[in-house]
Amino acid sequence: MAEVERHSYDVVVIGAGGAGLRAVIEARQRGLSVAVVCKSLFGKAHTVMAEGGCAAAMGNANSKDSWQVHFQDTMRGGKFLNNWRMAELHAREAPDRVWELETYGALFDRTPDGRISQRNFGGHTYARLAHVGDRTGLELIRTMQQKIVSLQQEDFAETGDYESRVKVFAECTITELLLGGGDPEGQDGGGAIAGAFGYWRESGRFVLFEAPAVVLATGGIGKSWKVTSNSWEYTGDGHALALRAGANLINMEFVQFHPTGMVWPPSVKGILVTEGVRGDGGVLKNSDGNRFMFDYIPAVFKGQYAETEEEADKWLRDNESARRTPDLLPRDEVARAINSEVKGGRGTEHGGVYLDIASRMPAEEIVRRLPSMHHQFKELADVDITKEQMEVGPTCHYVMGGIEVDPDTGSSSVPGLFAAGECSGGMHGSNRLGGNSLSDLLVFGRRAGLGAAGYVESLGRRPQVADAAVDSAAKMALAPFDPPPGGVVAENPYTLHTELQQCMHDLVGIIRTDAEIRSALERLESIRQRIDTVTVEGHRQFNPGWHLAVDLRNMVLVSECVAKAALMRTESRGGHTRDDHPDMEAQWRNTLLVCSVIGRTAGDAQVTVPDVSVVPEPQTPMRPDLLALFDFGELSKYYTGAELIGHPGKGD
Ligand code: FAD
Repeated sequence: MAEVERHSYDVVVIGAGGAGLRAVIEARQRGLSVAVVCKSLFGKAHTVMAEGGCAAAMGNANSKDSWQVHFQDTMRGGKFLNNWRMAELHAREAPDRVWELETYGALFDRTPDGRISQRNFGGHTYARLAHVGDRTGLELIRTMQQKIVSLQQEDFAETGDYESRVKVFAECTITELLLGGGDPEGQDGGGAIAGAFGYWRESGRFVLFEAPAVVLATGGIGKSWKVTSNSWEYTGDGHALALRAGANLINMEFVQFHPTGMVWPPSVKGILVTEGVRGDGGVLKNSDGNRFMFDYIPAVFKGQYAETEEEADKWLRDNESARRTPDLLPRDEVARAINSEVKGGRGTEHGGVYLDIASRMPAEEIVRRLPSMHHQFKELADVDITKEQMEVGPTCHYVMGGIEVDPDTGSSSVPGLFAAGECSGGMHGSNRLGGNSLSDLLVFGRRAGLGAAGYVESLGRRPQVADAAVDSAAKMALAPFDPPPGGVVAENPYTLHTELQQCMHDLVGIIRTDAEIRSALERLESIRQRIDTVTVEGHRQFNPGWHLAVDLRNMVLVSECVAKAALMRTESRGGHTRDDHPDMEAQWRNTLLVCSVIGRTAGDAQVTVPDVSVVPEPQTPMRPDLLALFDFGELSKYYTGAELIGHPGKGD
């Protein structure tokens, strides 16, 4: 039996970003003991990097805003493939979650009359993003950590131990979820979550968390692409952990390429320029100096966006008397437009387009509204955004696909396994609107915490972790230290990672074709074969090569899901553009592509990267009262005639 440090909790939350922390707070408030595990330092998650804001229909900028309008915008942004129940819960509950954050101590920017200020973002009808300059995510994390400290102080007063109910395990990577052994149909917890296995990044020592409920809140998958706004943590761990435990992933073909990542200079390549730059008046221009977005308003949005520069600029001053600027079309549309301009020879010399805020407002106003943007590009690249244009282009940013969950509770198909935040799927359909992630984390983080607590309270007996499962997880984690059999060439994890990123960048990127995706699948198959020969030097004490080797296993599995689903979906929609199937097809709107591991049985964790299958499944039709929020003319751009037979507007 491997030497393992053991802990026992009611709930283990994997991930300490916005979704994870909100789940921790909720489960603890229900009186349960909670471990929160994160592979980076506590406080350094992607949520910290979120800049522009958190979308919530509070109606502060325009009293016409409401949850219904937010719901409509979210469904339009996702091209009506969203899980409508999630979109409904999100739109209804986001304002309460933002106000609640203020009770934890958050300080959002204010309007002159003292209300929470809200900013414009792509695809949102009204200015809707509550923000703290361009450091909104930092404030979210800061206040949720503060809330956790206050709960720990309450626990100290009651038990004499600050960590009696909530304990943070930072710089600790979970590599496997463990299921209870025995009969999945019986009463012994077989097939249900029993714990999570991982290792301390510094010492390499193993650690086991025994718990009947696990909430996955591990974020995204961007590190499988070469150009990305994501940091080293985004290796799809939660997606892969869930798959290997027997849960499903949905919507994996939908990957968001944010239109404005820096393309030059190299020191900032891929780093995000917040959509807030365009929300506050910045405009996109090609190398001829033209504001090209007016040429790219797609048919489904015709009539909703300004058609002249004068009208677009007027809208910035007054949302009521003009239509919004096409610079703020949903991200998928803007990313494709930039791609076309560059392909058409109207890009910058480094393969991007220009984003100009410098000529649009005084320097001091830019620094006041966008302090981080100004500071970071000046420091990292000597680009002064108050004086010069930025060179921007699409960067891999966000995955709409993720773990299939019940909208109300966050539970997956594996008993005891819950998910929230970017690693869960459904909420954003084929394309996420900016600002809808931070609100998603708060709404569904809370719901997953509640769901996990309810599940634990309902249990009779807790599933037990089998020693054999622990040994098997330890063996898998240590495999990269074993040299390959004689005559077989050892692979370097960095080389294989670079190959994976190049493959996904070239062949499963922003624009895809059947031939390219097939070629990607061949290369992925070769990478999958070679992963068993990945070998690292040294020993377990802080060993970045080993960490990458462990993460690679997840990246390859998740990349296969993306490529297989992308091959199957023969249409273009949101974050999935097929050059060989350029139109959005109504017959595909209702179809979810569901990824699962083939032939999985509990305890077969010894397969490094298991095979995945992708199966089409229909979505549950939208509730009639929600469908009635849209007019028939708009729905008929997305739905088949048969689906709209009962719509009240039919026949108008
Ligand atoms: P994260 O905040 O990424 O947290 C993931 C956690 O999981 C981390 O603690 C990580 O250490 C941990 N983890 C991962 N794998 C493991 C493992 N195997 N074991 C243990 N721990 C693990 N969205 C908006 O709505 N508005 C914005 O303005 C905005 N701006 C953005 C700007 C940038 C630069 C980026 C990159 C994203 C932005 N987003 C924005 C998107 C948003 O920030 C993310 O989608 C969101 O923060 C994800 O939160 P999360 O809680 O799901 O995951």
